[in-house]
Amino acid sequence: MRSVGSCLCGAIQFEVAQFEPLVGHCHCKMCQKFHGAAFSTFGEVKREHLHWQSGLHLLGHYRAENESERSFCQRCGSSLLFESRFNRAQGTVEIALAAFDVLEAVMPDAHIYCQSKAQWLTMDDALPKFSGYRK
Ligand SMILES: [Zn+2]
Ligand SMILES: [Zn+2]
Repeated sequence: MRSVGSCLCGAIQFEVAQFEPLVGHCHCKMCQKFHGAAFSTFGEVKREHLHWQSGLHLLGHYRAENESERSFCQRCGSSLLFESRFNRAQGTVEIALAAFDVLEAVMPDAHIYCQSKAQWLTMDDALPKFSGYRK
């Protein structure tokens, strides 16, 4: 099953043929600010499994000091992509699961970077909670 996603205004549309296995809820401060939310949930995808349907020219990019790059819709502000140096070396990119309209069975398996978890967020699921990246 193909997963289909879009930004809030609908100008950017994309399809994903297949996700990689690890999906974490990330509570790092950068994800909080990028999403404007308590945490982000990104699915990892190989570059060749991501297909743009429309709006690629509207994609804006923000590169942080740690060389990670985040991409968003310049029209509506939807946060869409995350790419670390590790992702670049592996040829993968991470896509915000919340942007998908149709999504294959992708299930997060951990909370990561809980050291900066929002104090106003209550977590009562049974997933493992790591203070940093899965350790
Ligand atoms: Zn948009
Ligand atoms: Zn994060």
